Amino acid sequence: MSSQCLFCRIVAGEIPSTRVYEDDQVIAFRDISPAAPQHILLIPRRHIQSVAALEVEDAALMGHLMLQARHIAEQEGFADTGFRSVLNTGDEGGQTVGHLHLHLLAGRQMHWPPG
Ligand code: 5GP
Ligand code: ZN
Repeated sequence: MSSQCLFCRIVAGEIPSTRVYEDDQVIAFRDISPAAPQHILLIPRRHIQSVAALEVEDAALMGHLMLQARHIAEQEGFADTGFRSVLNTGDEGGQTVGHLHLHLLAGRQMHWPPG
């Protein structure tokens, strides 16, 4: 846990969030500034900077995270209508919080290419 990291502080409960799912490896909570009618962030409890910092040892954790994305999509009712999953990485990737997070966006038509 990094005491400087916003999402580590959310994991620790030091900063409030609206959680929609949690287990021993990941938590999911609503984005404070939603970019779609539904906008959920799914993160590992353990601090990982980004996809660019992933190690071989993180493979099972990331597989679990993706499976829980499916679970949350079903739980929140957008698995069938569709949704966008986004992992922003680094400055040019648009990452603003340095703790790996999967955006789940749903409830409107998405477009391609993204901005
Ligand atoms: P990034 O730009 O790094 O891919 O995404 C960071 C996301 O975190 C943004 O969508 C932003 O709205 C969200 N965010 C930033 N600070 C907070 C916060 O304190 N609480 C919650 N729930 N979301 C946050
Ligand atoms: Zn962190």
